[in-house]
Amino acid sequence: MATDNNLHFVLFPLMAQGHMIPMVDMARILAHRGATVSIATTPLLANRVRGIVTRAKLKIQLLELPLPLDKVGLPQGFESLESVPPTDIKVKLFEAMDLLQQPIEQLFRGLCPPPSCIISDSPFTWTQDVARKFNIPRLVFYGPGCFWLVCKHLVSATNILEQIESDSERFVIPGLPDRIEVTKLQFLGTSKTISAKEKLFRDRFQKAERDAYGIVVNSFNELEPEYAQELARLKHKKVWCIGPVSLCNKDNKDLADRGNRAAVNESDCLKWLDAKEPGSVIYVGLGSLAHVSSQQGIELGLGLEATNRPFVWCIRKKTEELEKWFSEEGFEERVKDRGLIVHGWAPQVLILSHRAVGGFLTHCGWNSTLESVCAGVPMVTWPHFADQFLNEAFIVDIHKIGVGIGVEIPDEDSIEALVKKVDVKEAVERLMNEDEDEAKQRRKRVTELGQMAKRAMAEGGSSCVNVTSLIQDINCLSRINKQTCQNEHQSHIS
Ligand code: UDP
Repeated sequence: MATDNNLHFVLFPLMAQGHMIPMVDMARILAHRGATVSIATTPLLANRVRGIVTRAKLKIQLLELPLPLDKVGLPQGFESLESVPPTDIKVKLFEAMDLLQQPIEQLFRGLCPPPSCIISDSPFTWTQDVARKFNIPRLVFYGPGCFWLVCKHLVSATNILEQIESDSERFVIPGLPDRIEVTKLQFLGTSKTISAKEKLFRDRFQKAERDAYGIVVNSFNELEPEYAQELARLKHKKVWCIGPVSLCNKDNKDLADRGNRAAVNESDCLKWLDAKEPGSVIYVGLGSLAHVSSQQGIELGLGLEATNRPFVWCIRKKTEELEKWFSEEGFEERVKDRGLIVHGWAPQVLILSHRAVGGFLTHCGWNSTLESVCAGVPMVTWPHFADQFLNEAFIVDIHKIGVGIGVEIPDEDSIEALVKKVDVKEAVERLMNEDEDEAKQRRKRVTELGQMAKRAMAEGGSSCVNVTSLIQDINCLSRINKQTCQNEHQSHIS
């Protein structure tokens, strides 16, 4: 299944773990077929993925582009969405990204083999101009799946939000094959008013998408067949579902090292899990961006303790107050026989893939959702913002592989605890209680989906075939473009 050795994909991931991680996997999938792949990113993010890229021993290179942060008034080090507070500063990051067009064009001229295709995250709108200048196709990549993209498209096309008076009124998303009811805020994934500047950026994302050659999605056809088809129909574009891309990670080192260096030793973590009964552990991880206030952290900890079940709790960032609570209450000591607390980055896929893990309390980021599906692990859903409420609907209402924790409104920086100890305890109980037929059915369904995901990525599976078709398509375009260039050159000479 090797490809034309001269194909060169240039990837532009948004500076956020939820985009960088799947793009690096995508780079490995394409490079595994013989293509050259360049990943254009900032020095900070390049450093994070250098290990995994080097270990892959494939034709993947990192194109490091320092962001002109001072020109947009951002402090040094604010190179990714994790470091940027969830306010208007995000727009500043987009402004800094806009200033990368010229340096990239310069770099493109020196790339060997010359670039044949750009795959870029939607905020890199100017990559569409670069693609036009270099006469190559641009494919657009979004973090979430086809379901989310279809919902967004239909709501925008029907202007239904204009008829919704209150933020808490539920409405049915029009035109979907499934009946999905959400509130306006859940649909928008934020309770904040979008600034005029951000709105302008969003309009540009849409325009650049209209001009793109196609869409690449981290998903697999069998997970959302109707939505994948509908997406192609609505956007009048080719859509390639080439995931779940996380399944390209096979050995423990790659599984453990995704995105960042883990804050727990890989073998200690595996040893801890090995000692637990199969399917008994609940893994708690709220992604790379979700904010957990001190009060919320305390309620979550107490809820986990009250389940009386073994758990792995990944706490990405602790506030001073939460840190104090941990030490004063002796929480870690209290739960030490059955609670493993990861203070920082967790080797999430390694943990989820362990047979001891029987449930995932997740914020419903799309990557986490897919990773749980791949591992055949049902979920307790606790969406915070962005696409997460729609992903929750996908998990709970469409596939029935999760239990909602009961969050109704987006939470970007609340200092209160929206989820109480009792909510955590009850949701975990519903998910993990194997005496309940509903829980058994949920587990059966997610196990089947996990098997489908693996088949999709295996040789001859739908995603594997889609990668082949994507490569063939780009190959074909690249030949036509070369031929056109030669003809133009010839006619110029004669
Ligand atoms: N992740 C991880 N360890 C952590 C937190 C996150 O490996 O401690 C990975 C996770 O496996 C997933 C990505 O980071 O691949 C998070 O992406 P997702 O779309 O789930 O959520 P986001 O962070 O974008 O909100």
